[in-house]
Amino acid sequence: MDLSLIRQQLTERRAALEARASKTTRDASHRDEPLSADFAEQAVERENDDVLREIASEAQHEIDLINRALKRIDAGIYGECSRCGATIAEQRLLAVPYTTLCVNCAAESD
Ligand SMILES: [Zn+2]
Repeated sequence: MDLSLIRQQLTERRAALEARASKTTRDASHRDEPLSADFAEQAVERENDDVLREIASEAQHEIDLINRALKRIDAGIYGECSRCGATIAEQRLLAVPYTTLCVNCAAESD
């Protein structure tokens, strides 16, 4: 398995997520216009802000997973199942590069 390729994929994905997280956080918290005077409009605007925050927090969660995967690469334990110690199949790692479980353990934890 080419770890430098995985590392590059993870780093690129993290950069995209960081851009998305900071943009959505900015949109939600530093809106240019004040909230509308109309109550129904306000409700819609607040809902939009909630959606933006949700997107930002999901992105942040994925960033955490990526950071942990990069640490595992550095520690030389990348691709080892954190539950049973088996080697995680390369295809699975390519599809979900920050997974910590082999396909069997992932199926059990569902
Ligand atoms: Zn396992």
